[in-house]
Amino acid sequence: MRQLIAGNWKMNGLGSTLSEIEAVAAFAAAAGPRAEVLICPPATLMSRAVAQSRGRIALGGQDCHADIAGAFTGDVSAEMLKDAGAQAVIVGHSERRRYHCESDALICAKAKAAWRAGLMAIICAGETEAERDGGQAHAVVSRQIAAGVPAGATPDNTVIAYEPVWAIGTGRTPQPEDIVDMHGHIRGRLGASGAQMRILYGGSVNPANAAAILALSGVDGALVGGASLKAGEFQTIIAAASVA
Ligand code: PEP
Repeated sequence: MRQLIAGNWKMNGLGSTLSEIEAVAAFAAAAGPRAEVLICPPATLMSRAVAQSRGRIALGGQDCHADIAGAFTGDVSAEMLKDAGAQAVIVGHSERRRYHCESDALICAKAKAAWRAGLMAIICAGETEAERDGGQAHAVVSRQIAAGVPAGATPDNTVIAYEPVWAIGTGRTPQPEDIVDMHGHIRGRLGASGAQMRILYGGSVNPANAAAILALSGVDGALVGGASLKAGEFQTIIAAASVA
Protein backbone atom coordinates (compact mmCIF):
# COMPACT_ATOMS: atom_id res chain seq x y z
CA MET A 1 0.00 0.00 0.00
CA ARG A 2 1.54 3.32 -1.07
CA GLN A 3 1.17 6.20 1.34
CA LEU A 4 -1.12 9.03 0.26
CA ILE A 5 0.09 12.57 0.83
CA ALA A 6 -2.91 14.86 0.43
CA GLY A 7 -2.89 18.64 0.58
CA ASN A 8 -5.95 20.63 1.66
CA TRP A 9 -5.65 24.21 0.45
CA LYS A 10 -8.85 25.27 2.26
CA MET A 11 -10.03 28.76 1.18
CA ASN A 12 -6.62 29.68 -0.22
CA GLY A 13 -5.35 29.95 -3.76
CA LEU A 14 -5.73 32.14 -6.82
CA GLY A 15 -4.68 31.65 -10.41
CA SER A 16 -1.34 33.13 -9.46
CA THR A 17 -0.66 30.27 -7.02
CA LEU A 18 -1.16 27.48 -9.57
CA SER A 19 2.60 27.52 -10.02
CA GLU A 20 2.79 25.71 -6.65
CA ILE A 21 0.76 22.84 -8.13
CA GLU A 22 2.95 22.79 -11.22
CA ALA A 23 6.05 22.55 -9.02
CA VAL A 24 4.60 19.76 -6.86
CA ALA A 25 3.50 17.83 -9.97
CA ALA A 26 6.97 18.11 -11.48
CA PHE A 27 8.53 16.97 -8.20
CA ALA A 28 6.13 14.03 -7.86
CA ALA A 29 6.86 12.90 -11.42
CA ALA A 30 10.61 13.08 -10.80
CA ALA A 31 10.32 11.31 -7.44
CA GLY A 32 8.56 8.34 -9.04
CA PRO A 33 5.86 6.21 -7.42
CA ARG A 34 7.10 6.67 -3.87
CA ALA A 35 3.79 8.06 -2.65
CA GLU A 36 0.46 9.03 -4.16
CA VAL A 37 0.05 12.79 -4.19
CA LEU A 38 -3.27 14.62 -4.10
CA ILE A 39 -3.98 18.34 -3.82
CA CYS A 40 -7.42 19.65 -2.94
CA PRO A 41 -7.57 23.24 -4.18
CA PRO A 42 -10.65 25.45 -3.96
CA ALA A 43 -13.27 24.46 -6.54
CA THR A 44 -12.60 27.67 -8.48
CA LEU A 45 -9.14 26.37 -9.38
CA MET A 46 -10.04 22.75 -10.08
CA SER A 47 -10.02 22.76 -13.89
CA ARG A 48 -6.88 24.85 -14.13
CA ALA A 49 -5.14 22.74 -11.48
CA VAL A 50 -6.01 19.57 -13.39
CA ALA A 51 -4.59 21.07 -16.58
CA GLN A 52 -1.48 22.28 -14.77
CA SER A 53 -0.78 18.93 -13.15
CA ARG A 54 -0.95 16.99 -16.47
CA GLY A 55 -1.81 13.74 -14.73
CA ARG A 56 1.30 13.74 -12.55
CA ILE A 57 -0.68 14.19 -9.34
CA ALA A 58 -4.36 13.79 -8.48
CA LEU A 59 -6.70 16.68 -7.64
CA GLY A 60 -9.62 16.57 -5.24
CA GLY A 61 -12.44 18.69 -3.88
CA GLN A 62 -12.70 19.89 -0.29
CA ASP A 63 -16.40 19.16 0.09
CA CYS A 64 -19.42 18.27 -2.03
CA HIS A 65 -23.19 18.43 -1.79
CA ALA A 66 -24.96 15.10 -1.37
CA ASP A 67 -27.31 15.69 -4.33
CA ILE A 68 -26.41 15.53 -8.01
CA ALA A 69 -27.88 18.90 -8.94
CA GLY A 70 -30.61 21.31 -7.90
CA ALA A 71 -31.54 24.49 -6.09
CA PHE A 72 -28.62 24.61 -3.66
CA THR A 73 -27.09 28.03 -4.17
CA GLY A 74 -23.34 28.10 -3.71
CA ASP A 75 -22.92 24.34 -3.46
CA VAL A 76 -20.89 22.03 -5.69
CA SER A 77 -21.88 18.44 -6.41
CA ALA A 78 -19.54 15.47 -6.57
CA GLU A 79 -20.49 15.12 -10.25
CA MET A 80 -19.34 18.71 -10.87
CA LEU A 81 -15.99 17.99 -9.23
CA LYS A 82 -15.63 14.84 -11.29
CA ASP A 83 -16.53 16.77 -14.44
CA ALA A 84 -13.82 19.30 -13.61
CA GLY A 85 -11.25 16.51 -13.37
CA ALA A 86 -11.21 15.70 -9.64
CA GLN A 87 -10.51 12.16 -8.51
CA ALA A 88 -11.35 12.52 -4.82
CA VAL A 89 -13.20 14.71 -2.37
CA ILE A 90 -12.74 15.40 1.34
CA VAL A 91 -15.93 15.04 3.39
CA GLY A 92 -16.50 15.71 7.07
CA HIS A 93 -13.55 18.01 7.63
CA SER A 94 -13.81 19.46 11.13
CA GLU A 95 -14.11 22.96 9.68
CA ARG A 96 -17.22 21.82 7.79
CA ARG A 97 -18.56 20.11 10.91
CA ARG A 98 -17.95 23.26 12.96
CA TYR A 99 -18.79 26.15 10.65
CA HIS A 100 -21.52 24.43 8.65
CA CYS A 101 -22.94 22.25 11.44
CA GLU A 102 -22.46 19.09 9.38
CA SER A 103 -23.74 15.92 11.01
CA ASP A 104 -22.37 12.40 10.69
CA ALA A 105 -25.48 11.49 8.68
CA LEU A 106 -24.83 14.28 6.18
CA ILE A 107 -21.18 13.29 5.92
CA CYS A 108 -22.27 9.71 5.21
CA ALA A 109 -24.56 10.99 2.43
CA LYS A 110 -21.71 13.05 0.98
CA ALA A 111 -19.40 10.03 0.97
CA LYS A 112 -22.06 8.09 -0.96
CA ALA A 113 -22.34 11.02 -3.36
CA ALA A 114 -18.60 10.87 -3.92
CA TRP A 115 -18.84 7.18 -4.84
CA ARG A 116 -21.87 7.83 -7.06
CA ALA A 117 -19.76 10.29 -9.04
CA GLY A 118 -16.76 7.98 -9.18
CA LEU A 119 -14.69 9.92 -6.67
CA MET A 120 -12.71 8.54 -3.77
CA ALA A 121 -14.12 9.82 -0.46
CA ILE A 122 -11.66 11.05 2.14
CA ILE A 123 -13.73 10.89 5.31
CA CYS A 124 -12.39 12.91 8.26
CA ALA A 125 -12.83 12.08 11.93
CA GLY A 126 -11.29 13.45 15.08
CA GLU A 127 -11.97 14.61 18.59
CA THR A 128 -11.86 18.11 20.07
CA GLU A 129 -9.47 18.96 22.86
CA ALA A 130 -12.28 18.92 25.44
CA GLU A 131 -13.34 15.49 24.24
CA ARG A 132 -9.78 14.17 24.53
CA ASP A 133 -9.32 15.73 27.96
CA GLY A 134 -12.62 14.19 29.00
CA GLY A 135 -11.52 10.72 27.96
CA GLN A 136 -14.02 10.71 25.09
CA ALA A 137 -11.66 10.56 22.11
CA HIS A 138 -12.26 6.90 21.28
CA ALA A 139 -16.00 7.16 21.73
CA VAL A 140 -16.27 10.27 19.56
CA VAL A 141 -14.19 8.83 16.75
CA SER A 142 -16.07 5.50 16.99
CA ARG A 143 -19.35 7.36 16.55
CA GLN A 144 -18.01 9.36 13.61
CA ILE A 145 -16.79 6.21 11.88
CA ALA A 146 -19.94 4.19 12.60
CA ALA A 147 -22.30 6.93 11.42
CA GLY A 148 -20.15 8.67 8.81
CA VAL A 149 -18.63 5.82 6.84
CA PRO A 150 -21.27 4.21 4.58
CA ALA A 151 -21.67 0.47 4.21
CA GLY A 152 -19.79 -0.54 1.10
CA ALA A 153 -16.62 1.38 1.92
CA THR A 154 -13.60 -0.30 0.38
CA PRO A 155 -9.89 0.54 0.18
CA ASP A 156 -10.54 1.67 -3.42
CA ASN A 157 -13.37 4.09 -2.75
CA THR A 158 -12.54 5.38 0.73
CA VAL A 159 -9.69 6.85 2.75
CA ILE A 160 -10.08 7.81 6.41
CA ALA A 161 -8.29 10.87 7.79
CA TYR A 162 -7.79 10.99 11.55
CA GLU A 163 -7.57 14.68 12.36
CA PRO A 164 -7.71 15.65 16.02
CA VAL A 165 -9.44 19.03 15.91
CA TRP A 166 -7.05 20.53 18.44
CA ALA A 167 -4.05 19.70 16.23
CA ILE A 168 -5.37 21.41 13.08
CA GLY A 169 -3.51 24.62 12.36
CA THR A 170 -2.15 24.87 15.90
CA GLY A 171 1.38 23.51 15.53
CA ARG A 172 0.50 20.87 18.11
CA THR A 173 0.46 17.15 17.37
CA PRO A 174 -0.52 14.14 19.49
CA GLN A 175 2.11 11.97 21.08
CA PRO A 176 3.26 9.31 18.58
CA GLU A 177 1.74 6.55 20.71
CA ASP A 178 -1.62 8.35 20.66
CA ILE A 179 -1.57 8.50 16.85
CA VAL A 180 -0.73 4.79 16.63
CA ASP A 181 -3.40 3.99 19.19
CA MET A 182 -6.14 5.94 17.41
CA HIS A 183 -5.25 4.58 13.98
CA GLY A 184 -5.46 1.06 15.39
CA HIS A 185 -8.76 1.92 17.02
CA ILE A 186 -10.17 3.26 13.73
CA ARG A 187 -8.99 0.21 11.81
CA GLY A 188 -10.74 -1.98 14.34
CA ARG A 189 -13.98 -0.02 13.91
CA LEU A 190 -13.86 -0.37 10.12
CA GLY A 191 -14.21 -4.13 10.28
CA ALA A 192 -13.03 -6.45 7.53
CA SER A 193 -12.85 -3.75 4.85
CA GLY A 194 -10.58 -1.71 7.09
CA ALA A 195 -7.61 -4.03 6.89
CA GLN A 196 -6.36 -2.47 3.65
CA MET A 197 -8.03 0.94 3.91
CA ARG A 198 -5.66 3.87 4.13
CA ILE A 199 -5.86 5.87 7.34
CA LEU A 200 -4.15 9.24 7.08
CA TYR A 201 -3.03 11.41 9.96
CA GLY A 202 -3.80 15.13 9.73
CA GLY A 203 -3.06 18.03 12.05
CA SER A 204 0.01 20.29 11.90
CA VAL A 205 2.06 17.95 9.72
CA ASN A 206 5.07 19.94 8.52
CA PRO A 207 8.47 19.31 6.93
CA ALA A 208 10.09 18.87 10.35
CA ASN A 209 7.73 16.27 11.79
CA ALA A 210 6.51 14.47 8.64
CA ALA A 211 9.10 11.69 8.55
CA ALA A 212 8.49 10.70 12.16
CA ILE A 213 4.70 10.73 11.75
CA LEU A 214 4.72 8.89 8.43
CA ALA A 215 6.93 6.17 9.89
CA LEU A 216 4.41 5.33 12.61
CA SER A 217 2.67 1.98 12.52
CA GLY A 218 -0.78 2.20 10.93
CA VAL A 219 -0.21 5.64 9.39
CA ASP A 220 -0.85 5.34 5.66
CA GLY A 221 -0.23 8.93 4.70
CA ALA A 222 -1.01 12.48 5.74
CA LEU A 223 -3.64 15.14 5.18
CA VAL A 224 -1.77 18.43 5.20
CA GLY A 225 -3.27 21.91 5.46
CA GLY A 226 -0.98 24.90 5.86
CA ALA A 227 2.20 23.14 4.79
CA SER A 228 0.63 22.09 1.47
CA LEU A 229 0.37 25.68 0.24
CA LYS A 230 4.06 26.07 -0.50
CA ALA A 231 5.50 23.59 -2.97
CA GLY A 232 8.85 23.38 -1.19
CA GLU A 233 7.30 22.42 2.16
CA PHE A 234 4.87 19.98 0.60
CA GLN A 235 7.64 18.36 -1.43
CA THR A 236 9.65 17.74 1.74
CA ILE A 237 6.61 16.01 3.21
CA ILE A 238 6.13 13.91 0.06
CA ALA A 239 9.78 12.91 0.21
CA ALA A 240 9.28 11.80 3.82
CA ALA A 241 6.66 9.20 2.83
CA SER A 242 7.77 5.80 4.04
CA VAL A 243 7.76 2.98 1.52
CA ALA A 244 6.24 -0.21 2.92
C1 PEP B 1 -6.34 20.21 7.70
O1 PEP B 1 -6.95 21.26 7.57
O2 PEP B 1 -6.83 19.16 7.28
C2 PEP B 1 -5.05 20.24 8.38
C3 PEP B 1 -4.53 19.11 8.75
O3 PEP B 1 -4.48 21.47 8.59
P1 PEP B 1 -3.00 21.78 9.15
O4 PEP B 1 -2.06 20.82 8.47
O5 PEP B 1 -2.75 23.20 8.78
O6 PEP B 1 -3.03 21.54 10.62
